[in-house]
Amino acid sequence: MEVEDSVGSRLRNRQLALEFIRRTGGCSRSEIMRELGLSRSGVNHLVSALLDEGIIETQTEGPEKPARRGRPSTYLVYRGESGHVAGLDYGHGHVTVAIANLNGEVLAESTARVDVDHDPSGAMEVGKEVFDGLVAQVGGPQIQHVVVGIPGPIDPRTGLMRVPTVLAEWRGLSPQAEFERVFGLPVTMSHDAMLGAYGESTRGAARGLSNVLYIKVSGGVGAAMILNGRPYMGTSGLAGEIGHAPLQGSTELCRCGNRGCLESVVSADTIRRQLGLSAGREFAADSFDVREVTDAAGVRILSEAGWTLGRLLADLCNCLNPQRVVLGGALGAYSSTFLQGVEQSIARYAQPGVIDDLTVVHSQLTDRSEIVGAVMLAAERAAQLVSLGVATERAELVLQ
Ligand SMILES: [Zn+2]
Repeated sequence: MEVEDSVGSRLRNRQLALEFIRRTGGCSRSEIMRELGLSRSGVNHLVSALLDEGIIETQTEGPEKPARRGRPSTYLVYRGESGHVAGLDYGHGHVTVAIANLNGEVLAESTARVDVDHDPSGAMEVGKEVFDGLVAQVGGPQIQHVVVGIPGPIDPRTGLMRVPTVLAEWRGLSPQAEFERVFGLPVTMSHDAMLGAYGESTRGAARGLSNVLYIKVSGGVGAAMILNGRPYMGTSGLAGEIGHAPLQGSTELCRCGNRGCLESVVSADTIRRQLGLSAGREFAADSFDVREVTDAAGVRILSEAGWTLGRLLADLCNCLNPQRVVLGGALGAYSSTFLQGVEQSIARYAQPGVIDDLTVVHSQLTDRSEIVGAVMLAAERAAQLVSLGVATERAELVLQ
């Protein structure tokens, strides 16, 4: 029994080390030691075997890692170029599709506009058309796994969309089964903000951090939590649904039929309309760049929206005591005025001790956090299927 346990633990360490190397896009032996809590000799033994088998290789140039001080002389890099995966990131009005290798390196990417909220089958068809075009563009590789993010909660126990007011037309659907039928491939579903959090925690501003709030501020507002290094989705997948939290004193009508929801006041679409009003002209949704807003009225609108979001995030920070709040999405990733509003509001309303250890930053992957998270998760899923067959806790928890 002891011998079996020891073999099991070696296999598990090997799996975790390989997963870490792939997820980080390249790391040092010391980082593996820290991540897995192993001795140097244990890591050397394990890494030598992976190098001998040609599963990983050493490189002198590593990925950009701003959080790190100094730089090791060699990186260990996963040699996963031969496999391919796909990610689809649905917003309320668009889908972005990417094809990547098992290192999470995106080989082709494209975005199409589609009415996701009211036309689930149309949204799936458009996603498949874009996917087919990209697969042809990169030479027709066999896709091993597809991860799809949608802007609404899926019950992780049943895989069903159950909330009647968010993505109402999707209610009762089992998106995973539908996408698997349309694509003819294994599919993993996720909430879009959770993919954003995953993208930032593997390749972006939340790398290496255990307690993170990721907030996607785009056509809607969604939050995802990584707590103690693991994604947290709640009992029925509704954790982080802050978009429809009611704001005191607000009476704006929301798409969910209620009044005064956070996203009826703070979403990118609402802000764009308000900025258009103050500028005396309409801004087109697909060409509007929030970074170009410098006039006094525009700055006031962005700052106030940030303050409103920050007021709600302060309560979350009081409850969860995170190390970092990462703002992503079309608005959160780009507007420094909006970010300052969030920061000042959290500082005003959260407890002083909570603020001491907290930083508020833009997503490092700009508004691509979700699509990067999708291909990273797909690569993780595919690599498990092809190489080791031992499910990791992280992958088990990421969704369903
Ligand atoms: Zn609402």
